[in-house]
Amino acid sequence: HFRCRSAFKLLEIDEKYRLLKPGLSVIDCGAAPGAWSQVAVQRVNSTGERPDLARGCVFGIDLLHIAPLQGAHFLSNRDVTSPATHAELQELLPQAYADVILSDMAPNATGLRELDHERLVCMCLSLLELAEKLLRPGGSLLCKFWDGVLTHKLREGLTRAFQDVKTVKPKASRKESAELYFLARTFRKT
Ligand code: SAM
Repeated sequence: HFRCRSAFKLLEIDEKYRLLKPGLSVIDCGAAPGAWSQVAVQRVNSTGERPDLARGCVFGIDLLHIAPLQGAHFLSNRDVTSPATHAELQELLPQAYADVILSDMAPNATGLRELDHERLVCMCLSLLELAEKLLRPGGSLLCKFWDGVLTHKLREGLTRAFQDVKTVKPKASRKESAELYFLARTFRKT
């Protein structure tokens, strides 16, 4: 019942690292078609399906249209890197802060591996600005990247902002793909 098999990557990462808990506020960057948001809705209990547990919230953003999903608030046709999107999120988030930022964003691949890598790293670096504005101290960020020459830059940027940064390769990610995730935990707000 997931909209995309990418859901299994997030499920696998979350099983291991327990990022998503009932009551948390989540921003899902590059959310279309919405499979990660489906996982997040369940895990943070944003529909209130479990009345005994705290109720969280999920905000999904994408350049593309995202079909509605119960428990999620989608901002379709928005650019995650745009300050206007950040301002909109700030208005919507409870107490103006998120506990977790997820990003499975990817640019349209040109097939030029180096170029695609650089573009995705730039997008990930822009998440640090989003975090600076909207992530609660102690919060976490999970972002997809394609490995390459700028990977160390991204790791350095994350390491400045978070206490703990790990590289994660979910089994559900095809072996041949250069796709990896950085899991950055315990945000220190500057
Ligand atoms: N995690 C999603 C799921 O489980 O359904 C799949 C995400 S898909 C691999 C990557 C998405 O990132 C695409 O839908 C693309 O439109 C989006 N994207 C790329 N650049 C973006 C940007 N600057 N702002 C918002 N979304 C972006």
